[in-house]
Amino acid sequence: MYGIEIDEQYRCCNRIHNPEDIIVKIGSAEIGGGHFCMIAGPCSVESEEQIVGIANEVKKAGADLLRGGAFKPRTSPYDFAGLKAEGLRLLSIAKKETGLPIVSEIMSPRDLELFEDVDVLQVGARNMQNFELLNELGMIHKPILLKRGPGNTVNELLMSAEYIMSKGNRQVILCERGIRTFCEHTRNTLDLSAVPLLKGLSCLPVIVDPSHATGISRLVPPMALAAVAGGADGLMIEVHNDPEKALCDGPQALRPEEYAAVAEKVRQIRAVL
Ligand code: PEP
Ligand code: MN
Repeated sequence: MYGIEIDEQYRCCNRIHNPEDIIVKIGSAEIGGGHFCMIAGPCSVESEEQIVGIANEVKKAGADLLRGGAFKPRTSPYDFAGLKAEGLRLLSIAKKETGLPIVSEIMSPRDLELFEDVDVLQVGARNMQNFELLNELGMIHKPILLKRGPGNTVNELLMSAEYIMSKGNRQVILCERGIRTFCEHTRNTLDLSAVPLLKGLSCLPVIVDPSHATGISRLVPPMALAAVAGGADGLMIEVHNDPEKALCDGPQALRPEEYAAVAEKVRQIRAVL
C-alpha cells in the first residue's frame, strides 16, 4: 500500500495504541466501557406538541437521550427538510421539560452556533466524509455521533473518526446504520458484524440504528435485540406518536408503546449478557 499502513491511518482511536475503551459522557449518561445508552425520538422535529409528547414517552420508557432532526438531509429537494433553527428551539423545550440530553444532526459547520444547547452533534451517513464538517467538529468540546455512510467501509468510518479526534475532540461515538447491498426488501442491510469488528479495531463506543438499517418498523425490535446481543454499546431508535402522519421516515418509526416493549427486552438481554 502507498504511504502509511492502514491501521496507522487511524491512530487516535486505534485499539493498538489505546487499549482502554473511551467512555463518552453526556450529562448523567455514559456510553462505552460497559456503559449502555438508549437514544430515542422522532426522525424529525415537527411541532412542540409532537417532540415534547414523544420525549415524555421515551423518558418514561427509560431512554437516556432524545433524538430529533431539525436539519434533515433528504434525497429529494422537495421533501420536508426539517424546521431548522425552530426545530432546535423545540428540542430545547423538550430537553428542559424532561431533562433528557438531546442529539441532533448538523449538516454544515455554518450552523454550529445554532447547536449551542444540543448535547450530541450527529454527523449523518451522507456527511460521513464531509471533511470540512469533521475538521470543525474536531475543534469543539461536545460528543459527536458519527454515522457510517451506506457505501463506506469500516476503515473509511475509522478514518472519518480520525479527522475529528486528530483535531482534539476524542468524544466520538460510531454508529452502524446499514449499508447498501442488493437486498431490495429493506432500506439498507444492517452490517451487524461491523459492531464487534469496530470494537476490536478501535476504542470508541459503537451503537446501532436499526431504524435506518431496515426502514421497516416490524424489523426494528428484532434487529435492536440482535445488536445488543452482538455487543453494541447503545441503540438509536426512531419513535413517533403517529407514524402514518410522520413528515419523515414514518414506515420505520415505532409507536411509543412499541418502543417501551423493545426497551424492556433490551434490559433483559443485557441482564443475560
Ligand atoms: C437520521 O438519523 O435521521 C438520519 C438521517 O440517518 P442517516 O444519516 O443514517 O440516514
Ligand atoms: Mn430518519
